[in-house]
Amino acid sequence: MAMDIGTEQRHAARRVRHETRRRLLTVKAIEDVTPRMRRITFSADTMEGFESLAPDDHIKLFFAAPEGPQMRDFTPRRFDREAGTLVIDFALHEAGPATSFAAGARIGDPLEIGGPRGSAVVADDFDWYWLIGDETALPAIGRWLEEARPGLPILTAIAIADASERQAIETKADWTTLWSLRSEAGTDDAAAFIALLAGQPLPPGDGFIFIAAETNVARAVRRYLTEERGHLESWMKAAGYWKRGEADAHERIED
Ligand SMILES: Cc1cc2nc3c(=O)[nH]c(=O)nc-3n(C[C@H](O)[C@H](O)[C@H](O)COP(=O)(O)OP(=O)(O)OC[C@H]3O[C@@H](n4cnc5c(N)ncnc54)[C@H](O)[C@@H]3O)c2cc1C
Repeated sequence: MAMDIGTEQRHAARRVRHETRRRLLTVKAIEDVTPRMRRITFSADTMEGFESLAPDDHIKLFFAAPEGPQMRDFTPRRFDREAGTLVIDFALHEAGPATSFAAGARIGDPLEIGGPRGSAVVADDFDWYWLIGDETALPAIGRWLEEARPGLPILTAIAIADASERQAIETKADWTTLWSLRSEAGTDDAAAFIALLAGQPLPPGDGFIFIAAETNVARAVRRYLTEERGHLESWMKAAGYWKRGEADAHERIED
């Protein structure tokens, strides 16, 4: 009798640990991709040994603040080991050491980083992917799209302030893009995501869903997709990339 691999065991994720080390970066170029998304290209003292195998990997950024040293998580949007460069996209918001750094950055400014400490690599053999998030998830979603295999069906649902925050992303994937504009949908991102996704049938075959947004938003969207749409929990990853009213909040969401 043929062995059947249990549904939950298919498409296993791979965890890879990396050597953690600190690096000193210097601001090399600054570009506003959209009015509230600042792309900073850094040159590094060294990129030797820098590993980032998953689009949603993160590095730690270290800031000297009046209240003491601060750390924040950001996505390595692009990197070039030979050229010794690293690109980070900063979603600018009201306050915080990372936002202040990016908003006031000048060529030559230093920044210390650490990591990534590891990569949780999602299997690349799913039949389709849904990538859901707000502007803090756009760097990971952008990388995911750029690195996807040709023709792969990817649907993205992204909440942004208004139409000027839409990004053009190069991809060979078969990309369906849904933007939710807070200027039209209001400020409740969870309700906006659920309204967008309600009109989308889950495609046939095995699919993986990535959700990254404000913690309570990510939790509500995850619950909707598992409880109301019946998507398998093990084929999903949800994370709080920030939490309203709380600094430096990062949460893996599993309920
Ligand atoms: C794995 C991971 C990867 C991430 N990658 C990126 C990335 O590539 N680019 C990016 O821009 N962000 C990214 N984030 C989110 C980023 O770490 C947080 O937004 C972080 O709080 C920003 O630090 P800060 O110093 O600007 O604000 P903080 O000092 O942490 O927070 C100050 C205040 O601002 C609020 N706040 C924080 N973020 C936002 C926001 N986006 N909108 C509105 N209010 C906010 C907080 O609730 C708090 O009240 C990532 C987070 C994680 C966990």
